[in-house]
Amino acid sequence: MKLDVAMRTDKGMVREQNEDAVGGDPEAGLMILADGMGGANAGEVASGLAVDMLVSQLLTGQPDSDDRIASQALLDAMQGVNQAILELSQQVPEYQGMGTTLVVGVFHEESLIHAHVGDSRLYRLRSGVFEQLTTDHTLIQEMVNIGDFASIEQALMAGVPTNVLSRAFGSEHEVDVDLSETPIEAGDHYLFCSDGLTGMVTDDEMQSILENQKLDLMQKADELVDFACRMGGMDNISVILVCVMAKNN
Ligand code: CA
Repeated sequence: MKLDVAMRTDKGMVREQNEDAVGGDPEAGLMILADGMGGANAGEVASGLAVDMLVSQLLTGQPDSDDRIASQALLDAMQGVNQAILELSQQVPEYQGMGTTLVVGVFHEESLIHAHVGDSRLYRLRSGVFEQLTTDHTLIQEMVNIGDFASIEQALMAGVPTNVLSRAFGSEHEVDVDLSETPIEAGDHYLFCSDGLTGMVTDDEMQSILENQKLDLMQKADELVDFACRMGGMDNISVILVCVMAKNN
């Protein structure tokens, strides 16, 4: 498949620094988005390290039969990122407690492999249906998953905070990565994003921007970021938009 890709990251309206990072290689079908956390510039260090390490390891690693990155290579590289962040945070006092989320996509000819840890998300728009493909690793989502609450709305009403992560890179020696593979179709749109977008912009609003025929893909990415800024821009905002164009010949 041929891909059209637009990436944007912005510090938003309130934060002094941008602790998000985006990267990858559209030619290789690799998309990476990280949302770092930690004092001083530690969040920036963690997210930047995660993106740089994945790019260098995955693009020089052993591709699988259709010349694309294999699931196991992705999982191994993500464990490597976790170790590197953990070690650096133990060696450098200013980096103590730093961490990052990650959501990664690897587009193959017929499918998308995606993996994530934390609350950075992946959505798909297909034939008018806008759907979240990832499940957040947050305290509030885990409480709903195990049945403490029937819905996120009920947990919110009970005062459960939304921004506490249950998994992140840099907190434990092993990180539990969620990985899935899903078929892709021409015309699909995929949106990778940080919580600085989803905290400000509803799913319906995101969908209507993606469906706006007057905008090209870069303009859609710009409009998602600008919309989040107009809604307050309380956090750093990052988006990677991917449109599946058609079969390669
Ligand atoms: Ca964030």
